[in-house]
Order: sequence, then structure tokens, then C-alpha cells
Amino acid sequence: MTSPILPGSVIGVLGSGQLGRMMTIAARRLGYQIEVFSPERNTPAGQVADVEWVTEYDDNEALTEFAKGVDVVTLEFENVPSEAISIIEHWAPVRPGAETIFTAQNRFHEKSRLQKMGLPTAPFRLVRTAAELSLGVSDYGGEGILKTTTCGYDGKGQFRLTSCEQAHEVWEEFAQTEGILEGIVDFASEFSVIGVRGIDGEFRAYDPILNQHVNHILDVSVSPAQEISPPERAEAIAMTQTVMEELDTIGVLCVEFFQTQDGSPIINEIAPRPHNSGHLTIDAHMTCQFEQQVRAVCGLPLGSTAQRQPAAMANLLGDIWEDNTSPDWSRLLTCPTAKLHLYGKACPKSGRKMGHITTLASQAATAETIAREARQSLESHSVQRTEVNTNSETIQKT
Ligand code: AMP
Repeated sequence: MTSPILPGSVIGVLGSGQLGRMMTIAARRLGYQIEVFSPERNTPAGQVADVEWVTEYDDNEALTEFAKGVDVVTLEFENVPSEAISIIEHWAPVRPGAETIFTAQNRFHEKSRLQKMGLPTAPFRLVRTAAELSLGVSDYGGEGILKTTTCGYDGKGQFRLTSCEQAHEVWEEFAQTEGILEGIVDFASEFSVIGVRGIDGEFRAYDPILNQHVNHILDVSVSPAQEISPPERAEAIAMTQTVMEELDTIGVLCVEFFQTQDGSPIINEIAPRPHNSGHLTIDAHMTCQFEQQVRAVCGLPLGSTAQRQPAAMANLLGDIWEDNTSPDWSRLLTCPTAKLHLYGKACPKSGRKMGHITTLASQAATAETIAREARQSLESHSVQRTEVNTNSETIQKT
């Protein structure tokens, strides 16, 4: 049996965005030290970590030094090059594990693997030419979604086709050597299941979370997801467990589902880390997804996934910052059931996730209404933005 990595030890985190920030906060609360590693400086996670490594993922010397100085490595960003993972693994355990990471890095491999596990996905195929794209769209009933096989998120690199005739033009604009074409799923809703699996194979899951997207970016999440019936809930959680067991995942993994018109869940994609839809677990659940990640990768007992109160989460994108002014937070902060989370990002940009609000209520629908109203109250009231100060130590490796 592997001994647990106890509080006081050092956790290394690859990637340094908001997921890393919230993971770092959870880890520090448990008494761990955190070193984050990414090419960027003064990052959301770096601001709250003990050490921020500002280093490219192909700097093998730095990766070795980083790995030697930590007790375990996890990630908040799955697109770390496989060579970097291999180097780190030589010195420190990498969790969720190489197989989980590599599977999630390529949509085609991921969907092929899910298919081998006997799990339902949208119809898909690899396409390498405009002619293959055109044939695929025709086979999928005259429509489809073309996606990059790697590095796509929030709908980036995706093209929706509504006829075979568009294939040549879209292929040119796509400008990739290969892509994955998916048939369109006529879904009733989208939801996610966040699972956590320990070193000993113990599995737990949060109840499904209902997700609404705007422009392919997650907009609002609600839990509990009343639209998902108990049998569909059980089916989705069982599928999540299958994925994590087959990939031998250690840590948190999110499975995004489409709920089809007949109610049955099919998998859209997996994310081998805490997920945007699970942010509401910080305020609404006994143990949040970030603490679960820390517990799992350190070999500690997993926490309860029970929900304390119905909740909703609304993302705050850079669009509500006007010019150099940030929203007037005081209006939001007077709302007794709203919790504000900001990620310390200096430059608001359209579509950039700057923070989120979580609201609690006795009913999920009420929590959602409050979240939407609270966010709307920010949109027309801005004040001069203040600079973020940080105290974390920065190590620069160039
Ligand atoms: P993704 O980046 O693959 O999660 O896609 C972003 C969003 O695009 C999803 O949350 C869906 O709203 C939509 N989408 C992606 N794939 C499909 C599909 N095969 N059929 C219908 N909608 C899709």
C-alpha cells in the first residue's frame, strides 16, 4: 500500500490558471505547500502558490529540478506535452496518471477509447481532407461539427456544417492536417458528472450538474439538476466510474454529457481535472472538487460529495469589464446568498473567464434566478479597476 503524502508536503501543479488557483487555495488550507509550473508570470495560481515557476514545458532541466523538489505532481491543464510528463514521472508520481492525460489530449483517441469501453458518444470519425469531410457530413445526414483533435476548448477550433457543399470552404479555414467530425446530437440538455477516485480505487461522484452554454462557453451551472431522472443520474455516474476505472485515474475527472431527447445520457467529452461546472461545490458541498483533487492525489481518504444546499454558478467573463473599469462589486456583495470568486487576472478580455458567482437557495431554480440577477446587476455599474497585488515568491527559469 502506498503511504499517504501528508500535509506539509509539496504538491506540484502543471498549469497556473483559475483551476490551479482554487486547487492551491484548497491545498494550502490543508497545510500543503504548492509549486505551480507554467510559461506565464503572475498567474491566478502563481499569486497564491508558495512558488511560481515561469518556465516553458520543454525546458527539461527545469522540469527535472521542479519534479525533484515536490512530492507529487498534478495538473489543472491537460495539454501539457507528453515529453514533460515522462520527465516528471521519473522523479515524482504524476496523478491523474499518464494514460488518463494522454487519452484526454486528443479528441479522436478519447472518443475511440470511450467506444472501446462500450460507452455512447456522438457518431465521429477522423477526417484528413475536404473530400473526407464532405463524405462524413453526408453520412451524418447533411450536418456535423468539425473539431480540432488537440488543444480545443470552449468551442475554439470548431465549425458547424449544415451541408456537404460547405466542406471545401470550411476545410480551408480549418487549416489543420486532421480533424474529428462529429454528428450533431439533438440534446435536451447538457450536464456533467464530477467523479473522484482515490489511490485505492475508491470512487465517489457529485450528483449531476446542469450546464448552460453561451457561444460554446459555460455560462450557468445548476445543482441539483432536476431535469435528470434518478435512473439517468445512476447511468451517468456509472459511466463516469467506468471511465475512471478503465483509465486508472487518480484524482478528479469530469464527464460532460448530452441528455438526449429520450433522456439517455451520451458522453460529449472528458476533462481529467476539476472542471468549471464544479465550481459551485466550493460553496454548496461538504467537500469541494479542489479539495477532493488534493486528497486523491495525496492518497488521503476522499471527502463527502453530499450537497449542503441547492446552488447555481454564473461565470463572469471579461465582457462585463468596460474599458479599464471593473464592475461595482458592492452591489453583488450585498446579496446575502451570493459568493464572489475572482481569479486575479489583470487583463479582462471578451470571453475570458475572470471569476464566477455562486448563489445558494432552498430551490435550485431560485438559486439560478438569483445568480442571473446578481450578474446582471454588475453589467451596467462599473468602477475604476484596481491593480492586483501579490506576495508569492516568483522563480524565473529561462
Ligand atoms: P466541446 O468543446 O466539444 O465541449 O463543445 C462545446 C459545445 O458545443 C458543447 O457544450 C455543445 O453545446 C456543443 N457541441 C459540441 N459537440 C456537439 C455535438 N456533437 N452535437 C451537438 N452539439 C455539440
